[in-house]
Amino acid sequence: MSSTRLLAATLSLAAALFTGPVHADEPAINLYSARHYASDEQLYSDFTKTTGIKINRVDADDAGIIARLKAEGSASPADVILLVDAARLWRGEHDGLFLPIRSKVLEEAIPTQLRAHPDADGGIPWFGFSTRARVIVYDKMRVKREDVDTYEELADPKNKGKLCIRSGSHPYNLSLFGAMLEHMGPEKTEAWLKGMVDNMARSPKGGDTDQIKAVATGECQIAVTNSYYLARLIRSSKPEDRQVAEKVGVVFPNQSSWGTHVNIGGAAVARHSKNVEGAIKFLEYLASPTAQNYFANGNNEWPVAKGVTSDNPALKAMTGGSGEFKAETIPVASVGPHQVQVQQMLDRVGFK
Ligand code: FE
Repeated sequence: MSSTRLLAATLSLAAALFTGPVHADEPAINLYSARHYASDEQLYSDFTKTTGIKINRVDADDAGIIARLKAEGSASPADVILLVDAARLWRGEHDGLFLPIRSKVLEEAIPTQLRAHPDADGGIPWFGFSTRARVIVYDKMRVKREDVDTYEELADPKNKGKLCIRSGSHPYNLSLFGAMLEHMGPEKTEAWLKGMVDNMARSPKGGDTDQIKAVATGECQIAVTNSYYLARLIRSSKPEDRQVAEKVGVVFPNQSSWGTHVNIGGAAVARHSKNVEGAIKFLEYLASPTAQNYFANGNNEWPVAKGVTSDNPALKAMTGGSGEFKAETIPVASVGPHQVQVQQMLDRVGFK
């Protein structure tokens, strides 16, 4: 599809989903969201109950939201934007779609490494409100856990013909590879990407859940996925999903070195918001314990605000009971700018 047609299709979809005009006499914020979970209803109604601010929602996917904001320009009614993955948040920031904000509440609640770098005036363009880990799943019958407990081993010749992974150009992988670039430098990273191509059981296709299922059916033996896709299978009401989850082992990679790669679900105030005060109130609300619970648990992610913990049963099961693991400490804001360099490496090594 051409980019113009894609944009047109996105705009008509987004227009169809827009919940209606805002009445000037009632306080409201317009929220563009790439999240669609059952618990979000409670998240929003709880905010309206406590603040009296109504929420009008536009649901679209991440690319659709960014395309819509660009097309609308300064006429955009958007006040708050919810996106997933640091690569996409960085893209939105880079394209000037966000309004950097100052908020004592957010600066105290959200760890520095889970938010954007401040601009020259100290304003912060976006904040993370949940974390997800990029984990390795493996066939418990055929693969030894110690052969897949680091990202580096995904490229080791001992794992030849075993690896399934989604497209290298997907934001989840661009962020992981960008983080590896931070940890290992460009030469080792490119060799690592090449090693993964050599180890693939099949050419990249499908989403993360498809990779987990391909391990369960035996098409491959090792796969890479965001943690919440596995958690979703573990908690599924469908027996066939739970059977898939039971067949695979899960590793939080690099526990004895720099830690597992984590990414975020995040939010920003829209550049042309007509209700900045209400938008900041909503972001501050997202950092509260109640909202953190809805926001993180709704997608089986980890809450991030200081002092808030998770008791999600699937996350506990995946981490051997504790619910915790060692996460890398590089700022998520540092992986986004590596996207272009990583994509060039992917092209050179033939990582589709
Ligand atoms: Fe996802």
